[in-house]
Amino acid sequence: MVKIAIIGTGYVGLTTGACFAEAGHDVVCVDNDLKKVTLLESGKIPIYEPGLEPIVKKNVLSKRLRFTGKIAEGVNHAEVVFIAVPTPPRPDGSVDMSFVEKVACEIAGAMIEYKIIVDKSTVPVKTGEKVAQVIKRYNRRKVDFDIVSNPEFLREGCAVQDLMQPDRVVIGVGSDRPVAKMKEVYEPFHAPIVVTDINSAELIKHACNSFLALKISYINAVSAICEASGANVEDVAHGMGLDKRIGRAFLNAGLGYGGSCFPKDISAFVHIAEHLGYDFRLLKEVQNINAEQIERFMKKIHETLWIVQDKAIAVLGLAFKPNTDDMRLAPSLDVIHRLQKEGARIRAYDPKAMDKAREILDGVEFCDSPYTAARDVDALLICSEWDEFRHLDLEKLRSVMGQPVVLDGRNVLDPKQMEKLGFVYKSIGR
Ligand code: NAD
Repeated sequence: MVKIAIIGTGYVGLTTGACFAEAGHDVVCVDNDLKKVTLLESGKIPIYEPGLEPIVKKNVLSKRLRFTGKIAEGVNHAEVVFIAVPTPPRPDGSVDMSFVEKVACEIAGAMIEYKIIVDKSTVPVKTGEKVAQVIKRYNRRKVDFDIVSNPEFLREGCAVQDLMQPDRVVIGVGSDRPVAKMKEVYEPFHAPIVVTDINSAELIKHACNSFLALKISYINAVSAICEASGANVEDVAHGMGLDKRIGRAFLNAGLGYGGSCFPKDISAFVHIAEHLGYDFRLLKEVQNINAEQIERFMKKIHETLWIVQDKAIAVLGLAFKPNTDDMRLAPSLDVIHRLQKEGARIRAYDPKAMDKAREILDGVEFCDSPYTAARDVDALLICSEWDEFRHLDLEKLRSVMGQPVVLDGRNVLDPKQMEKLGFVYKSIGR
């Protein structure tokens, strides 16, 4: 059992804290959002993440998981202190590191004995050096410490599974001293552990996310060629994906990537590279292709509806991907804003993200089912691929719509079946 503190109790911090507690460690999760802390203490969780709530409840009851607003309480409790605060983008695409810096100062102020300080936030290469300098500067008692980089690879929507059964755990260290304790933290998860220097560990995370985004943009570029040539991108992706060197994951053509990670991490990597003297043209093109996917979808809407003004349009799927309520940089937002600007009336439905969507979308009518959203509309758009949409009662859907027009931005439905049922149906790359 390792005594652990996690600073930042968001998607990553809360799920990691809960899974560490589930694995038998003694965990204190810290957050400066006191409303969140109170909510968690009362056994409620502020995010939708499948399987998380029971683990939180169980481990709070068994006292292996606690919440506090005070960093000092977490630091004094822990042998290993994880930093899991936001690293949002600045307007120029570089990373705003002020949250990490602030937390590092506070950890330094609270340290009275040796600590392992682990960065789990996604950060630019060489952040470890900076965090070490800050801790040295602000720790008046000159206590010994080690900095570790331990990037997180969880996917929202299956974060619990990703944490309990990780493909690998990356541990970047500056000396051998923290390695045994870090291995002890991860021992219950039986995953391959990759030990590197700190810079390499930091780079692995940006290199991974950029590569996955590249796969998405690659298949989206292929989807444009499929549309122009009459080929089917699903068949192409299937044929490519069975090649073990390639793999099928992240080869889904659609509206492109969004969310709180890929857009910011790809921008960050381009910026980091530039700072280090390398023009990462490949990634710039990944970004361009991603932005183009929305343009291409809008073009399809215009080709189909001609005039958007005064049309009623249903949008199914608001979250940036299925199985999460995360609305950060969801492609649906871009599509909805553009349609609203042209004078369309939007009716929307999402299985889990409606509360978060209400906070950021104005002038949208939120509906309690796909069929209510579709009532009397001139067209229906699918913006994220929730399983629920694969099992829609399509005859019922058609019967409630004003016009049977469906633009599927995630290739959820079957074109042949849609045609047979009398829909005007357009999807991506097929
Ligand atoms: P989040 O916004 O959901 O959570 C961050 C939490 O930190 C919030 O609860 C916030 O209140 C808290 N916080 C901010 N400043 C604080 C402070 N000074 N003291 C204490 N708490 C503070 O963010 P997230 O999605 O969990 O992401 C955290 C980091 O992990 C980011 O660097 C992100 O890029 C990375 N990451 C995220 C994911 C993901 O899928 N969300 C996956 C891998 C890595």
